[in-house]
Amino acid sequence: MAEKTEFEAITIGGGPAGASAAAILAEKGHRVLVLEREKFPRYHIGESLLPFTNHPLRRLGLIDRMRQSSFVKKYSVQFVAPSGKASQPFYFSSRYDADIAQTWQVLRSEFDLMVLNNAREKGAVVHEETAVKEFLRDGDRVVGVRTENKAGEIRDYTAPITLDCSGRDAFAAVRNRWRLGDPMLNKAAVWTYYQGAARDEGLDAGATTVAFIPERGWFWYIPLHDDRVSVGVVAEGKYLSRDGVRDPGEIFRREITQNPWIEEHLACGQQTGPYYITGEYSYHARHCASPGLLLVGDALCFLDPVFSSGLMLALKSGVMAADAVHEAMEAGDLSPSRFASYGAALRTGIENMRKLVYAFYDPKFSFKKLTDRFPEIAGDVTDCLSGDVDKDFTDLFKAVSEFAELPDPLPVGEPLTGENLVLQRG
Ligand SMILES: Cc1cc2nc3c(=O)[nH]c(=O)nc-3n(C[C@H](O)[C@H](O)[C@H](O)COP(=O)(O)OP(=O)(O)OC[C@H]3O[C@@H](n4cnc5c(N)ncnc54)[C@H](O)[C@@H]3O)c2cc1C
Repeated sequence: MAEKTEFEAITIGGGPAGASAAAILAEKGHRVLVLEREKFPRYHIGESLLPFTNHPLRRLGLIDRMRQSSFVKKYSVQFVAPSGKASQPFYFSSRYDADIAQTWQVLRSEFDLMVLNNAREKGAVVHEETAVKEFLRDGDRVVGVRTENKAGEIRDYTAPITLDCSGRDAFAAVRNRWRLGDPMLNKAAVWTYYQGAARDEGLDAGATTVAFIPERGWFWYIPLHDDRVSVGVVAEGKYLSRDGVRDPGEIFRREITQNPWIEEHLACGQQTGPYYITGEYSYHARHCASPGLLLVGDALCFLDPVFSSGLMLALKSGVMAADAVHEAMEAGDLSPSRFASYGAALRTGIENMRKLVYAFYDPKFSFKKLTDRFPEIAGDVTDCLSGDVDKDFTDLFKAVSEFAELPDPLPVGEPLTGENLVLQRG
């Protein structure tokens, strides 16, 4: 039988954004195709979940699988000063009910495979080792994609809507020149893994630790299962490459010595695998949609990962995108303007998180100073940092602006509207 090449929706990428959107669309009975360049399980960075990630995970039907998994349970976050002195850990249970008081630290190869398999089980068609090479267009409208598989075969697939879930490749934003940098957040990261490094006791064993180094740089220390720890340093590129050092391993080993807590915790462990490096950090796509196209997850926006917001935004936007596409299909109208509220809602959350990230990097700001002076907004700080990003945080940011310069919202995220599209279902 000839392979089906016509679908109701296509996702470029089968990472958390693409797989969650595909799962919901398939569950609602739509014919959806996931095109993924890699063969899963594949390596990916981004391992710490925020408590509010549990909501999209529940919607996807994955909470029980998470509970049964080997992923390390995360109950808290702590900050460590450059002197090595750790703050009191913040426990999510001090503010939230059991359903979000605990989340997880995930090995992405396993987590992403679970999310992609969930889409398959719900009926999505998944083609791995199949890279999307270009959009197929009818005038301004995207009507599908041209792909190349591992064997070098070129194949076209069509659908009235394509969801760009290509992660930091930002397939559509790069081709459409929609990628807007965020110069204040132009950082670089170097990271690696340790086997057998120290972990704290009891509930704290799964804590995320953010450990500061000079010049507003910081380390993440994320305990994973199988006695592995993910550890990385983020700072201005020119700080990390000072004295002409370019080798990621050399940079990493030098920076460890900038925080005694990190140095001591790693001392009993064994570094394993490569050192990774990335730059070109935060960016925002000018538009969330155009005729036949919708942007989801990192393909829409990537924010500095200091508060671990990426997976929460990827899964949440995947679910939201699928709901918006389903409603549009039901209405027989997939015109970009239907996605205006999707774009606006996501941008509200992203801008809230972005303000806190700006504050974090402002030398005049610290969470302690903020909550000492304005104890009444401590709950808002927790909510934003836990991923409850859609709240009205007017009071919080009024208080934060006493210590830090906050950015205006970027004029991005609206759909690029065009002709109305009428979907023929069947
Ligand atoms: C240094 C660093 C640390 C981070 N730490 C955290 C953290 O602690 N917690 C957190 O929540 N987030 C973190 N993140 C962010 C997190 O990794 C991302 O937000 C998350 O992976 C986004 O999911 P996604 O599905 O949008 O993209 P991805 O997970 O990148 O998935 C995109 C998929 O698309 C595929 N693809 C790309 N192009 C094509 C193509 N042309 N054709 C077919 N397939 C294609 C890719 O192979 C990939 O599988 C971190 C990111 C970085 C860089």
